[in-house]
Amino acid sequence: MADTLFTNVRIFDGGGEAPFIGDVLVQGRHISRVVRTSQGQRSQPVQGAQQIDGAGAFLMPGMIEAHTHFSWNDQPSLDAIQRMPPEEHILWCAEVAKRYLDMGWTSCVGAAAAKPRLDVVIRNAINDGTIVGPRYLAASQEITVPGGLGDTTAPHLPQHEFAFGAIVSGCDEMRRCVRMFAKYGVDSLKINLSGESITGMPSEMSQFTEDEIRVCVQEAKAWGKRVAAHARSSWSIKQCIKQGIEVIYHASFTDEEALDLLEAHKFEHFVAPGLAWLINTSHHASEWGITPEVARGMGYHRELEAAIESMKAMRRRGIRILPGGDYGFAWTPHGTNAKDLQYFVEQVGMSPMEALLSATAWGGPMMRMGKQIGYIREGCLADILLIDGDPLADIRILQDQARILAVMKDGQFHRAPPVRARGATRWSA
Ligand SMILES: [Zn+2]
Repeated sequence: MADTLFTNVRIFDGGGEAPFIGDVLVQGRHISRVVRTSQGQRSQPVQGAQQIDGAGAFLMPGMIEAHTHFSWNDQPSLDAIQRMPPEEHILWCAEVAKRYLDMGWTSCVGAAAAKPRLDVVIRNAINDGTIVGPRYLAASQEITVPGGLGDTTAPHLPQHEFAFGAIVSGCDEMRRCVRMFAKYGVDSLKINLSGESITGMPSEMSQFTEDEIRVCVQEAKAWGKRVAAHARSSWSIKQCIKQGIEVIYHASFTDEEALDLLEAHKFEHFVAPGLAWLINTSHHASEWGITPEVARGMGYHRELEAAIESMKAMRRRGIRILPGGDYGFAWTPHGTNAKDLQYFVEQVGMSPMEALLSATAWGGPMMRMGKQIGYIREGCLADILLIDGDPLADIRILQDQARILAVMKDGQFHRAPPVRARGATRWSA
């Protein structure tokens, strides 16, 4: 594996400080040196390393997506996602995994698969080099109840092959379900604790009993697995904290009790609201029959307002809010994920710096990799992006693939920057 020396780059190192001009040396899989250079200073070449003159480009850690569904296939309904035959579906997942890397997401946290083993197979294929994709944590299907979010079976066709989620009722079935996914090799169990208005079960409704949730968490922990919850309702958010569910997706409807609980346990949880889903379902899904009036009728406009207020309150209380959430619907296609960062700035009131940190420094613990990723520091794994422009001045540029000049994962270029004669890159004027 060739070593790489980036020179003349503006380094955002993930620590929250202003970027600085310098050099970054990558040797093998790791970042081995980060040095500041002063203006006009020439960097010393490193023997055996390919030298890339960054011409002032912005160098930052690869981004980490906290709520990813490779198997959502950019369709407008759960049925349309689930009914894809398994053979086509696994190919779809492989193609989408590459798309995430193309767009600068070098790590993704799987948040549920549309069939039992899709996530596990893709994670394994990425890890053994069969396919190209980001670092990935594999999830189970969504665990749900009869009639709940993810039970897409018809009354006369109750076979589980027709179900989007894994349907259980009672503690014994829950235990069996968790064990089955543990056997398949998932990293995390996904449990649907609240409804989702588009499916007919309102977002503020909750499903499962406390006993069923307790069994899920106990059994998952016994197998060393993490639990993540779809939790839009206030009751479901509180259950996540009371029962130790580490990853909370959506968290739209909070009250003071929920916020106090979250704040008291803020280093034990991650929140990924998936604002793009709410915004686009509310306002940009007319082409698929969900006009703004229809969305309002479903309650999404009210939920969007509630979610934004909840995220503002969580931000004030120092609760970790991460990007990602249900990309892979027709109106939130895969690859547009950096819109979440724009919404964090425009809607939640984060500074661009906070938004960048939510996609980098906080992503390491979300991936259960601590500080090995999410930083440009000596000893960290070399997941690196080279950006044309300054995301701290305009966070939206991260949505533009043309501005993502290079993507490196694990010390190897997924996409190398355009290099001209004598190793000098010249993309800026
Ligand atoms: Zn989701």
